[in-house]
Amino acid sequence: MTSVGIIGGGIAGLTAALSLVEHGHEVTLIHTGIKNTNSYLAQAGIALPVLEGDSSRAHVIDTFKAGKYLNDEEAVWNVISKASEAHDFLLSLGLKFEDNETEGGHSFPRVFTIKNETGKHLTKILYLHAKEKGVNFIRGEAEELAVKHGKAYGVFVNGEFLKFDATVVASGGFTGLFKYTAGSPTNLGTLIGDAMMKGAPARDMEFVQFHPTGYIGKNGVKLISEAVRGAGAKLVTEDGERFVNELSTRDIVARAIYRQMQAEKRVFLNATGIENFKRKFPQIYAFLVKEGIDPSRDLIPVAPIAHYSVGGISVDLWYRTGVKNLYAIGEAASNGFHGANRLASNSLLECVVSGLEVARTIGRERPKVRDVKEPAYHGYEKGDIESIREILWEHASIVRNAKILREGLKKLDNVEADPRLKLLARGVLECALAREESRGAHYREDFPAMRKVFERPSFFDGRCRL
Ligand SMILES: Cc1cc2nc3c(=O)[nH]c(=O)nc-3n(C[C@H](O)[C@H](O)[C@H](O)COP(=O)(O)OP(=O)(O)OC[C@H]3O[C@@H](n4cnc5c(N)ncnc54)[C@H](O)[C@@H]3O)c2cc1C
Repeated sequence: MTSVGIIGGGIAGLTAALSLVEHGHEVTLIHTGIKNTNSYLAQAGIALPVLEGDSSRAHVIDTFKAGKYLNDEEAVWNVISKASEAHDFLLSLGLKFEDNETEGGHSFPRVFTIKNETGKHLTKILYLHAKEKGVNFIRGEAEELAVKHGKAYGVFVNGEFLKFDATVVASGGFTGLFKYTAGSPTNLGTLIGDAMMKGAPARDMEFVQFHPTGYIGKNGVKLISEAVRGAGAKLVTEDGERFVNELSTRDIVARAIYRQMQAEKRVFLNATGIENFKRKFPQIYAFLVKEGIDPSRDLIPVAPIAHYSVGGISVDLWYRTGVKNLYAIGEAASNGFHGANRLASNSLLECVVSGLEVARTIGRERPKVRDVKEPAYHGYEKGDIESIREILWEHASIVRNAKILREGLKKLDNVEADPRLKLLARGVLECALAREESRGAHYREDFPAMRKVFERPSFFDGRCRL
């Protein structure tokens, strides 16, 4: 029996936990609240090419188009060809999908959804099964990975060393390190930075997806999902003019909105033509009504917000990192599946597939750690994360150029914060500076075209290698 410590209570972590415990391993999941995950917030759904008329090939092509051909071909085929297994796994838990829809960038209505609250239903059902099967849940923050001589031995929680044979980072991405995000503010990417400092490089850090239609209101930030545009809502300026195909990929729509905003025009989503908005989008409806907006009558003001970090701890096809016995899955990891931009609803698919796959990897490798003198514990303070959030928002945003990025790097030097978060932010800025082209989620106004010479991933281990 292998003892496995998983950090993060999102769909990736829960899937891995359930699968590992079912295979007889001793599983501990350290989490900061199942509801404080981006998984819980996922609205639209999960992309699964399993219906008649669809094909893995069509889904692969859509994924490549969205990823602007930076995707790792093997990773794309690997994940998508396991979609039917992911589908079966979810149905075996008793999950019932309600509908299947077309989202931006998909050539087929393959996005499986449940009342536009898909993530919540998936998370709950996975949690219940994991609990029932005997996963040991610990509520708290894994402060630090316990790594010694290039090998992981577990984590530190409240300064206490918890030893595991295998350690799985499933702590989500780092969009919480941007000032405006619709995701969980606890998704800072601390362990991505920690892993980097301890010998596991990160990959493709410059690609941060901005969701085009965030609502920034007095009660917080809410994402108005693509499904609302899929159901027929139109993007208009304050003059009532349409300016973009609403079903284009996110980068195109986000930049189109950004340009309107730069021209000092306010942008709105007109959803008044959608019948039964309240029934179709209950969460969004409830939020908007609290803000005094009735979507069946009023225009919804929208602006782009940080939504998804394409980059993460670099992993191979089996979700192994550069540190022995340390694995990473879900949004915390990156193996080139998404390329330069994530196709809508592909991340929940990746979460389930990577969770199932890492369980097989651990089952096969059966890592074992012996007694070890406690690895170093640093007890870092978070410090001034607000300044890092400001810097990334202003200097690594939707439209970048060399001057803005360099200024961001200079400002970052003077921030007093957790060195792991500073390292992560530096990774985003430095790789965005090194990538002198525009591709997918990364747009440089000083290099507005895609360039063949940059058709390769970036890696960051304190220095950007591109
Ligand atoms: C509003 C919104 C809507 C979305 N809609 C969709 C969609 O419809 N379809 C789709 O495919 N994708 C969607 N996404 C993206 C998708 O939800 C995420 O990419 C995915 O859920 C990530 O899952 P995960 O398990 O990797 O991480 P998460 O679900 O983010 O869970 C990771 C958890 O680990 C916690 N954590 C972090 N550090 C630590 C630590 N040190 N110790 C303990 N815990 C820690 C985090 O706070 C978080 O709670 C959406 C994202 C957002 C924000």
